[in-house]
Amino acid sequence: MDRYSNFGHGYYMSGIKNIYVGWLIDGTGGPVRKNIGLQIENGRIISINDSFARDSPVGETTDYGSSTILPCLVDSHVHLCMSGTDDPVAREKQLGAGFDEIKGLITQHIKRHLSYGILAVRDGGDKHAYALRYRDEYIEIKKAPIVVRVAGRGWHRSGRYGGLIGRPLQANYSLAEAIQNDHEDKDHIKVVNSGLNSLREFGKETLLQFSAEELSDVVKIARKCGRKVMVHANGKKPIAAAIAARCNSIEHGFFMGIENMKAMAEKGIVWVPTACTMKGYAEHLKHGSVEYEVSCMNLDHQIEQISKARGLGVTVALGTDAGSIGVHHGSGIIEELKLFVTAGYSLPEAIKCASCNGARLLGIEDIGVISEGRAATFLVTKGDPSKLPDSLGSLDFIYRKGNIVNCINEI
Ligand SMILES: [Zn+2]
Repeated sequence: MDRYSNFGHGYYMSGIKNIYVGWLIDGTGGPVRKNIGLQIENGRIISINDSFARDSPVGETTDYGSSTILPCLVDSHVHLCMSGTDDPVAREKQLGAGFDEIKGLITQHIKRHLSYGILAVRDGGDKHAYALRYRDEYIEIKKAPIVVRVAGRGWHRSGRYGGLIGRPLQANYSLAEAIQNDHEDKDHIKVVNSGLNSLREFGKETLLQFSAEELSDVVKIARKCGRKVMVHANGKKPIAAAIAARCNSIEHGFFMGIENMKAMAEKGIVWVPTACTMKGYAEHLKHGSVEYEVSCMNLDHQIEQISKARGLGVTVALGTDAGSIGVHHGSGIIEELKLFVTAGYSLPEAIKCASCNGARLLGIEDIGVISEGRAATFLVTKGDPSKLPDSLGSLDFIYRKGNIVNCINEI
């Protein structure tokens, strides 16, 4: 009996779905394809054809001829425990809140990610490891159509920046020893290796927190237990140390300079630029203030760096740092995609950073690219690609393994 046997109920029982789409962005960065037919069976794409017969005799047919499909998205840098509010009282409250209060906030943020088509997030750490606790204790998340990868508490040098997202290294321990003795079941390791960007002095660099040798020992320990290392770093020296240690990704990477970019391209280290953080600051600061001017300059400089990174072939994954002031979970991805386009990326190239490159960074094989043999997991947006990325704010459908996701409100 072949797969087209129908028991007299017609071919709809075959389990094959034909989907006709007006435009396809496949996540590889290649050009937009027009008038495409996808054939799906058992949740996987079995064929993608340029010429598609709408009256295909086998299986059910759905016509999205006036829509664009693209892979589901990945936000490679978020903080689920914080919202993007600029209200200092609310931010203070979030930082001091207990798990029972924060778990509701995390659920809201996850729902927001889903509603923008983000089906995987990588959390960059929080002071109390609440995102990790949520992943482990909140059972509904396991049924939700989103992958949540957490860092638990990040690591920073005592007396240096990092208290908001982690813990200090105790005296008498090396960083590698501390990580080896840590029993939090995290998905990846977060290390803070510089300060924040100054909003008063353009381009001011901070000292590194850990040397290349210390970071190199961390990377070795992490690899042994199958974990990747994400390093918060701004400025030439903190970034150079993280690159020399062969960490997996540089987070933020403001003011890294061209030599570091070349080294990243050569070593295959991923950059997550989080440029929209500076846009978020600028939008909430008083126009004309020093902080406003410097955040605008930081943003422009970062856009220039992203442009150079593209030319040098650095692998860039899109991360928003959602939870930073003015960077909201979900919608932040639209802002960051626009900044990539401003930096010279084509829309499909920018989408690749937010899908394929993110999925690879998170180690998720089955999402991020729409191709034959992969899971039929993709987003359907109204209109042609010129409506993107804004049209992510009003997605028509999310398909996951061949079925429409309709359980966002059940989390
Ligand atoms: Zn962060």
